[in-house]
Amino acid sequence: MDLFGLLNRKMKPKKSLGQNFLHDINIVLKIQKALDLQSTDQLLEIGPGLGALTKHLLPSCKEYAAIEIDPRCIQELLFLEQEHAHFRIVQGDFLTINLEPWKNYTKVVGNLPYHIATPIMERIATELQPTKIVCMFAIGTADRYIATVGTPQYSSASIMMQSFFSMETVCTVKKGSFFPSPSIDSKVLSFTPKEVQIKKTLQFTKFVQKIFSYRRKTLYNAIKNSYSDRVASFIQSNCAILMQRRPEMCSMEDFQWVYQYYRETMYEKNE
Ligand code: SAM
Repeated sequence: MDLFGLLNRKMKPKKSLGQNFLHDINIVLKIQKALDLQSTDQLLEIGPGLGALTKHLLPSCKEYAAIEIDPRCIQELLFLEQEHAHFRIVQGDFLTINLEPWKNYTKVVGNLPYHIATPIMERIATELQPTKIVCMFAIGTADRYIATVGTPQYSSASIMMQSFFSMETVCTVKKGSFFPSPSIDSKVLSFTPKEVQIKKTLQFTKFVQKIFSYRRKTLYNAIKNSYSDRVASFIQSNCAILMQRRPEMCSMEDFQWVYQYYRETMYEKNE
C-alpha cells in the first residue's frame, strides 16, 4: 500500500506527534546529498515515521538506527530489520531515551516533529558527537537558528545554535511535499558541530536565554531583572556602552564579553 493509501485507510496521522509525512523524492535526494554518507558511517534517524528517508538512506551506511515514538510507525518499518542486518528501529521518546548506545554515531538525520525541534537539537548538541547533522524544521524555526544580529528572527535560539554549530541551508520545502500538508513551509539545514566545552557553552546559552526574555529592555535592565542590581552595575562598570543596547542588537561576541564579566561576579558571590 502506498503512503496515501496507508494514511487514508489504516493510519490516521497524529498532529500531537508532528506527523507530516514527506512524499517528495527530490527533497529526499537533497537530504541524502547533504548527508554525504560513506560506507563507514553510522546513521541515527529521529522520527522515521513511515520511512521516507529511511528506505532511501539505509543502503548507504554501515549501521542505521531509528528512534520513533509511535508504535504504529514501528510496525510499518519492522520488515526493514529483516531485510537489512545493519538496521535497528527502537521505540522511544527522543527527548527522554538513553542515548548512550548511539553516542558515537557519526551522522544524524531527521524530519523533526516541529514542536520539539529545539530540545531535540539541544540533546544532539550536548549528548551525541556526530560530524554532521541534517534536519528539517518549520521554516520560522530554521530562520531563527541562522538569523544574524539585528534581524527580527534573531533570538536566544540563534545564539544557542550558533554556539554549538556551523550551519548551512540545504533547501526550502513547500508544504505540499508532505501528507498531510502542514500550515507552513519547511527548511532543511545542515549542521557541523563546533569544538566547544559542552557544559560551559550550555551555561552561556542559558544566560543569553534569560536576557532575551527581556528583549525590549537594554542589556543593563535585562541583566538587572534576570539577576540583580549588583551584577548589572559590575558589568556596566566594565562595558558601559554595550549595556545600553537591546539584546537583539548584541552579537554573539558581545554576549560572550558580557558573560565573562557576569562570571566574575559569580566568583565574588553566589547570586
Ligand atoms: N521522517 C518521516 C518523514 O519524513 O516522512 C516522518 C517525519 S514526521 C514530521 C515526525 C516523526 O517523528 C513522526 O513519525 C513522529 O511519530 C515522530 N516523533 C514525534 N515525536 C517524537 C519523539 N519525541 N521521539 C521520537 N519520534 C517522535
